[in-house]
Amino acid sequence: MSDDGLPPLREVIARHGLDARKSLGQNFLFDLNLTRRIARSAAPLAAATVVEIGPGPGGLTRALLLEGAKRVVAVEKDARALPALAEIAAHYPGRLTVIEADALRFDWQVHIEGDAKIVANLPYNIATPLLTGWLTSPWPPWFSSLTLMFQKEVAERIVAAPRSEAYGRLSIISQWCAHARKLFDIDRRAFSPPPKITSSVVQLTPKLLREPSCDIAVLEKVTAAAFGQRRKMLRSSLKGLHPDMANLLAKLGIDANLRAEQLAVGDFARIAQALGGTAE
Ligand code: SAM
Repeated sequence: MSDDGLPPLREVIARHGLDARKSLGQNFLFDLNLTRRIARSAAPLAAATVVEIGPGPGGLTRALLLEGAKRVVAVEKDARALPALAEIAAHYPGRLTVIEADALRFDWQVHIEGDAKIVANLPYNIATPLLTGWLTSPWPPWFSSLTLMFQKEVAERIVAAPRSEAYGRLSIISQWCAHARKLFDIDRRAFSPPPKITSSVVQLTPKLLREPSCDIAVLEKVTAAAFGQRRKMLRSSLKGLHPDMANLLAKLGIDANLRAEQLAVGDFARIAQALGGTAE
C-alpha cells in the first residue's frame, strides 16, 4: 500500500492493462513524492475546485487529494483509465469527479463552477493548444491559477524574456495574460515510459486586467507577423498589417528598425491596441 492506503500505481496499471500509448501522450509519474510536490506548488487546494487534465492511472490525482484538494474534477480521454480512477473516487467519497472527454473540445465554463485551479501533467502533443485555448477564453478567466507540466523547451518559451532565443509568440501571449514562472525541472527518468526530454513545471497566475488592453486576436496577428520573420525589422515584418506601419510605430515611440525579439510584451500590446479593437 502507498501512503494514501491505495495500491501502488504499478500494480494499478498492470491490473487494468494501462500500457502507455504514445498517441495519447502517456508518460506516467509513479513517484508520489514528486506528484505531491507538484500538488503542493498549487496550494492552497482546499478552497478551489482543482481541475486536472489527463489523470491517467491517477498518480497526480492521488497526490492532489492527499494534499487536501477538497474537490478534483479530472478530464480524461482514455476510457481504459476510468476503472482505476473509479477506485480513487471510492476511496475519497464525494471529492473526485471523473469526466471522460477530450480536453481540447471541452466546455469548461459549463462544467466548472466557482474558483478553479488547473493542475496537470499535460499530454505533450496538446499542451500548447490547451494553454493558448485557456488564455484566449473570455476574460477574466474561469481559473485562478495554472500549474502545468510541459516539455522544458516549451516551459522556457512561456517564461522567456525579450532578447532571448526562446522569446516568441507563446511568451507574449502568456505574459500579457498572466504572471508566469518556471518552478522546477523533472528528470525524464521519473516517467514511465521516459520521454526523450526533461520536463518543467510552470505556474501561471492570470492578470485581472491585461494591459495595455487590446484585442487578443489582433495581438496574435501582430506576434505571428513579427515572429514569422523574426530576423527582419518590424517595419518590414509588420508591413502587411497597416498601410503606414512605420508612421504608426513612430507615433508609439517604437523603433521600426528593431526585430521582434527586441520588443517588450507591452509594446506588442500597444501595437495591437493602435491597430484597433480595445474590445476588452
Ligand atoms: N496524470 C498522469 C500522470 O501524471 O502520471 C498522466 C499524465 S500523461 C502525461 C497525459 C494524460 O492525458 C494521459 O492520461 C492521456 O490519456 C491524457 N490525454 C491525452 N490526450 C487527452 C485529451 N485530448 N483530453 C484529455 N486527456 C487526454
